[in-house]
Amino acid sequence: MVKDKYRISFENTVYDRNLEIDKSISLIDKLEKERSLSLEEYKYLVENLNKEVFDYISKKARIIGDENYGKDVYLRGLIEISNICKNDCYYCGIRHSNRNCERYRLSEEEILECADEGYALGYRTFVMQGGEDGKFEPEYICGIVRKIKAKYKDVAVTLSLGEYDKESYQKMYDAGADRYLLRHETADKEHYEKLHPKTMSFENRMNCLKDLKDIGFQVGCGFMVGSPYQSSATLAKDLKFIEEFAPEMCGIGPFIPHHDTVFKDEKSGSIQMTLFLIAILRIMRPNMLIPATTSLSTLDNLGREKGILAGANVVMPNLSPVKNRKKYELYDGKVCTGDEAAHCIGCITNRINNIGYGVAKVRGDYKCLNMM
Ligand code: SAM
Repeated sequence: MVKDKYRISFENTVYDRNLEIDKSISLIDKLEKERSLSLEEYKYLVENLNKEVFDYISKKARIIGDENYGKDVYLRGLIEISNICKNDCYYCGIRHSNRNCERYRLSEEEILECADEGYALGYRTFVMQGGEDGKFEPEYICGIVRKIKAKYKDVAVTLSLGEYDKESYQKMYDAGADRYLLRHETADKEHYEKLHPKTMSFENRMNCLKDLKDIGFQVGCGFMVGSPYQSSATLAKDLKFIEEFAPEMCGIGPFIPHHDTVFKDEKSGSIQMTLFLIAILRIMRPNMLIPATTSLSTLDNLGREKGILAGANVVMPNLSPVKNRKKYELYDGKVCTGDEAAHCIGCITNRINNIGYGVAKVRGDYKCLNMM
């Protein structure tokens, strides 16, 4: 039973209850059985979210998550290595043309110190994330990855540093990087072009994901929920893309406006829809690694817990030096920017324990279904 404080509230529940609930529930059962729906069926689900359907899907998603990963929630230590970015994504607080963003780049020593601190706290995966900083030649990144992997034999390294050519990704893989996160942002080209300037290419982003997969990384894609111009049709395309691309990881979190961006006056994405989509993803790909994101907990103090109760199985506490954290402001109000690393892991562990789950201090790799 989910305690009341973790329950999701729904306001607009005026609908032809029986018909819509029955159809949604039969689609959820079909998704569980076939791991696949048509675009139209995904669209229907997205358009007909209500309390009963949410209760049904989140319960099912949790059962499926527990069958695959037990009560373990995997920890990733997030190191935000630079907020310098050549890109100008309309939604992002560290976009190139934000003159009010105070820029920083961690030195190699600082990154390695974060890893040392994280290792001592029990982290066995480090995620190096950053803007598309021109200083990050593949060789430079490879050097850091090699040092971390040489020092700590039992850790995984995840990179999330944006778009490179295939040869560069190959070098990073050969240096020992295990995973790569590159959100596709939207699977609809027209929508992509409304979120990004002309200098950025939908095709290139999608090709990068394909290259990463071909090379052998555990690959993560993902998107923001409620980004401007998103519709049930674009969301259906996102779900179909994820179904077909079959990534090992998928990160989704609500869009939250940043005051120094083109989208400063847009409204935030919905918590309910984010949780609903997490549950769909869990049922579609039972063994996928799905984080309960920081943006979820920014909009809702219990967002991470609700994410896990809807089927997520990964959390990414911040390991970046405290002096830099506020500068990695992708959106307004980002939480967990003032706490020491030791505090973050303690707080998250308690929160996870409170909902009957536990943090697993292991690498937490993707579990291939036919290996289980
Ligand atoms: N540069 C790398 C890349 O492009 O993949 C990684 C860093 S990028 C800042 C990480 C993710 O933050 C993006 O993929 C995007 O989905 C998310 N993000 C950026 N701005 C956001 C916002 N305003 N609200 C929610 N998420 C946002």
